[in-house]
Amino acid sequence: MFKALVISKTGDVQQCIAREVDAAELPAGNVTIKVDFSTVNYKDGLAISGKAPVVRKFPMVPGIDGAGTVTESAYAGFRPGDRVILNGWGVGETQWGCLAQHARLDGDWLIKLPAQFTTRQAMAIGTAGYTAMLCVLALEQHGVTPDKGDVLVTGAAGGVGSVAIALLAKLGFRVIASTGRASEADYLKSLGAAEIIERATLSAPGKSLAKERWAGAIDTVGSHTLANVCAGMRYRGAVAACGLAGGMDFPSSVAPFILRGVTLAGIDSVMAPLALRVEAWSRLARDLDPAKLEAMTHEISLAAAIPAAADIVAGKVRGRLVVNVNA
Ligand code: NDP
Repeated sequence: MFKALVISKTGDVQQCIAREVDAAELPAGNVTIKVDFSTVNYKDGLAISGKAPVVRKFPMVPGIDGAGTVTESAYAGFRPGDRVILNGWGVGETQWGCLAQHARLDGDWLIKLPAQFTTRQAMAIGTAGYTAMLCVLALEQHGVTPDKGDVLVTGAAGGVGSVAIALLAKLGFRVIASTGRASEADYLKSLGAAEIIERATLSAPGKSLAKERWAGAIDTVGSHTLANVCAGMRYRGAVAACGLAGGMDFPSSVAPFILRGVTLAGIDSVMAPLALRVEAWSRLARDLDPAKLEAMTHEISLAAAIPAAADIVAGKVRGRLVVNVNA
């Protein structure tokens, strides 16, 4: 028996509880891991709270991220004792996830834990931090360098935003942080933000072209915010769009793309190919300051992930939540 969060659904009512699960109930898979840490990402928040139909079958163990040690393997690439990371691949949506003491997964989904990280640090990063790195890689790929001008990060005090600021500052960019929480200005500056702008300046409907302000942007919000970000990009600037905290829509026009040569790069972490994941994690090992990571991280127990899910969807969580599944 082991401890897990379990989401069940009766009629239209979804419920998540912490309970004991029989190891015989673990799903099919060729690698079993003993989980040390998991996280609460925005998507975990949606899954656990039931605010969006993230969970595709019931009962479901949530947890799109996990880090731990292989205990059994029928997969050539991993042996018992190997320390591994899991991010995405539909885990916690269609396949039992890692908000549990044990998980059974597919070896194709796992990557080796970089030597620089503990399992706790890997989950302090989690999908949010790995996605922030995918965004930085996309900006680099589209020629955004520190000499080109400022880089904007929206949803700055959240998980993706916090890691993105720390990474960009370390790489020499002048970072502008957009937040709805003025009280977090000192926190954002401690991560490396040079300037803070109020979320409301970007969230109202605007024109599809505006004054040229940013050479690059990482957007976690979507909707009018993403439209205004595109409108304010400098000539040949690039936007990495990864989130929808403000909405799924994109009320803009082609003007920024065809008149200013702006690139809108879509970022998906869930099904990203293995080589890109390995690159992102090795760049995180190189470019993320461990002291800043610790400063943005709050550790909680497995059971505390349930109320934390509602908090993250309500935009109340600062930085990253790491879940000690054995506490
Ligand atoms: P968090 O909840 O940690 O951060 C989101 C931040 O967005 C909040 O902290 C808040 O920042 C801001 N925000 C919240 N609600 C609103 C709103 N209504 N309007 C404007 N801003 C708002 O989530 P994550 O950082 O983990 O994830 C951010 C987004 O990225 C989510 O939509 C998530 O689904 C998405 N995501 C996508 C991935 C992908 O593969 N494409 C992977 C990971 C995440 P502040 O208070 O500073 O304004």
